[in-house]
Amino acid sequence: MSDCIFCKIIKGEIPCKKVYEDEELLAFHDVNPQAPVHFLVIPKKHIKNIMELDAADTALLGRLLFRAQELAANLGCSEKGARFVINCKSDGGQTVDHLHCHVLGGRFMTWPPG
Ligand code: 5GP
Ligand code: ZN
Repeated sequence: MSDCIFCKIIKGEIPCKKVYEDEELLAFHDVNPQAPVHFLVIPKKHIKNIMELDAADTALLGRLLFRAQELAANLGCSEKGARFVINCKSDGGQTVDHLHCHVLGGRFMTWPPG
């Protein structure tokens, strides 16, 4: 999508600190980190949010989550864990309408979220 920030990052029109890339996924550090480790994993396909997920995209989401935990482990979160978050629409606190999984680690995460 032409006016989507994350699609622009995928196309290289906006720079990012890349963590991982393959033909269908991109992971990069969040520009406004909320924890010592805070990166986003996104599909290159523009999917607005998790509630717009097509049945055909379930395997893609599975691979996204698999990659997210693998990258979290690579960044030092294997022993103490991390939080994997997918915000959705206004009540979910989503601000960028391109499906993304936050991975936050390196500190204790409180619950419930505010
Ligand atoms: P949401 O609130 O939609 O779940 O999360 C969007 C996240 O994207 C926020 O944590 C925000 O800091 C991050 N973000 C927004 N614009 C950019 C950008 O241009 N580059 C990077 N690296 N992160 C961004
Ligand atoms: Zn997009």
